[in-house]
Amino acid sequence: MFPELELHQCLTKALELKGFNEPTEVQSAAVPATLEGKDLLVSAETGSGKTAAFLIPIIQKMLVDDTPKNGVRAVILTPTRELARQIEKHAKELIKFSRLLAHAITGGDDFKYQRSLFRKNPEIIVATPGRLKEHLEKGSIDFADLEFLVLDEADRMLDMGFTEDVMIIADSCRAERQTLLYSATLDGRKLQHAIPLLLNEPETIALSSPTQANESIVQQIILTDDERHKTLLLLRLLEKGNYRKVIVFTNTKIQTSKLAGWLRYKDIHCGVLHGDMTQDGRNEEMARMRNGKLKVLIATDVAARGLDVKGIDIVINFDMPYSVEDFVHRTGRTARAGASGLAITFVAARDWNMKAKIEREAGIKFEQEILKGIEAKYKGPKKLKSSGKAASTKKRDDDKSKKTKPKERTKVRHRDTKNIGKRRKPTGQKDEAPKTGKFGDGSGAFSFKKKAYNPDDDA
Ligand code: AMP
Repeated sequence: MFPELELHQCLTKALELKGFNEPTEVQSAAVPATLEGKDLLVSAETGSGKTAAFLIPIIQKMLVDDTPKNGVRAVILTPTRELARQIEKHAKELIKFSRLLAHAITGGDDFKYQRSLFRKNPEIIVATPGRLKEHLEKGSIDFADLEFLVLDEADRMLDMGFTEDVMIIADSCRAERQTLLYSATLDGRKLQHAIPLLLNEPETIALSSPTQANESIVQQIILTDDERHKTLLLLRLLEKGNYRKVIVFTNTKIQTSKLAGWLRYKDIHCGVLHGDMTQDGRNEEMARMRNGKLKVLIATDVAARGLDVKGIDIVINFDMPYSVEDFVHRTGRTARAGASGLAITFVAARDWNMKAKIEREAGIKFEQEILKGIEAKYKGPKKLKSSGKAASTKKRDDDKSKKTKPKERTKVRHRDTKNIGKRRKPTGQKDEAPKTGKFGDGSGAFSFKKKAYNPDDDA
């Protein structure tokens, strides 16, 4: 279909170089609609080719309308710096044969340097909202002539607290701009609230449900007991070395560093990625992962969204993610663009409910894998005894039948037992002595056998 679209030759050449011969599903739907000038609301599966779906038509329109312009023509907003860098790279590859310029503007980079980038009049800016808003407020740039506003991973961006920044940026853009909103889910509350403020009569392209996992991923679980056990499992998996690249997800920044330190101590070369690292540090780790110098990356969810690193064949959920959506995004780092991949999730007793929820909502059937010699003591939830009710009824019946046996019938009166263990006066008071007691040895003294009352003794 790319030839049918009669794309500009600069773009056609770039697509050929990237090996994009056929459009993906989202591209088939979104490229023509964007070329028609519509505002779009798009939900598409992770790894489906979303980036090119908005970049191709935007670049095409810029190449066709090449009257000289001073200002920025397209702004692409993303929730994370890594994603911004990735989109910038993708854009640079697609405009390689043209005079168009693209730059990423994200937090963590030098503000003055970024100002100097604006002076070069780039047509495309890929940015995280906070830093771009700062530039707007400090007058480094204005968007009076902006033609395209793209919100990528919009649900995540709003969830991360960027709503106000996004609105400020959108308000500073030309009202006649074209807005393209890409999101894993379109039904989030914050998103639903923002849509009418950002888009104008948008066309909706819904290609995936947010919690639908990529079917090319083999999904496995390994049962585990605790943190220590998880580290043993991880070490065993990584020592096998039968992978090209692995991402290991944990739930906290501290955990990533701790785990990486321990793995290095065990001679596993690995990198770390989390939101508290300097931008240079983050860029460096991503670059090492991309160019294959790093085979193992321990990361928080900052690496879960949209990141496209070629050759990741295994994703390991060291910690169970907090939501089905996070699970789908994490595991979506593998099996990208039609490749296959393996996702392994460690499941402890407390994770079982989430595992069941993922199976239900993401339509996943997990295979259970066992690592010989280091199996967990935990074997999954105890099965409810289906015969439990019957068993207890039977017990009651047994008790009943016992009671009905006349021989075993017992009736214990308080007055018969209250004096057990007490010393008796050797007075032979009639009312205190048992009728058929074995007390008394006839010598006037008595011996008292310390023994529980047994009605059979009376019999
Ligand atoms: P994205 O969902 O944009 O992160 O893209 C996922 C992967 O698909 C990236 O590695 C892209 O380079 C690749 N890709 C996107 N579109 C195409 C296409 N039409 N043909 C082949 N690969 C593609």
